[in-house]
Amino acid sequence: MLEVVPLPAFTDNYIWTLRDARSAAVVDPGDARPVLDYLAREGLALAAILATHHHPDHVGGIAELVAAHEAPVFGPKGEPIPALTHPVGEGDSAEIPALGATFSVLEIPGHTRAHVAYYGLGSLFCGDTLFACGCGRVFEGTPAQMLASLQKLAALPDATKVYCGHEYTLANIRFARAVEPGNALLAAREARAQALRDAGKPTLPSTLGEERATNPFLRCAEPAVVESANKYLGARAADPVRVFAAIREWKNKS
Ligand SMILES: [Zn+2]
Repeated sequence: MLEVVPLPAFTDNYIWTLRDARSAAVVDPGDARPVLDYLAREGLALAAILATHHHPDHVGGIAELVAAHEAPVFGPKGEPIPALTHPVGEGDSAEIPALGATFSVLEIPGHTRAHVAYYGLGSLFCGDTLFACGCGRVFEGTPAQMLASLQKLAALPDATKVYCGHEYTLANIRFARAVEPGNALLAAREARAQALRDAGKPTLPSTLGEERATNPFLRCAEPAVVESANKYLGARAADPVRVFAAIREWKNKS
């Protein structure tokens, strides 16, 4: 049975660690130190590194990790990932034999040009594309690409566990409540997230069902979200991409 353990890094990153009794794979190790400490403390071998995109807070620890532990490094082809041994894209899979685990690779460009997600075992590791009740900033792609990527993730089953790269949930829920004040599920979600943070626990993983019900960036066709986008724009948003772009811009400024 695999367990997924969050290793906190920097101020709000999580390095997701899949492990059994002997081995561990890590997703987006921006810093090597928490991973090296964890492997040593638990007596685990490093089975693989999975990178979602090239930002330093996701890949900054890879070189130091592979210097200490030989392990395959999976990451998006088309992005500069340190020590990359397995460049992957849409339709590829990341196999981790030591853990008996295989993940499908989904290309989800927008935050960066070749950002990927890893999906398997009912879990989604989605880096900085889909966040709990939010989404990443659109740095290298277009709003149309980012929305298509989010819709691709939203098509996965309701029970899919969402492991994203940052603990941004409470701020995201507050923004979502401004976008969709009538969504009662958001108040309940905020109370649950606040209780977890007060107890020093991560708010993650969430589920895709929960995201579809409360994440405004997955709800760009909902009348209440469209109405808020129109209010922000002072005009009618012509289509879901314009709605998405408007609420993303509003969030950037909030
Ligand atoms: Zn990023």
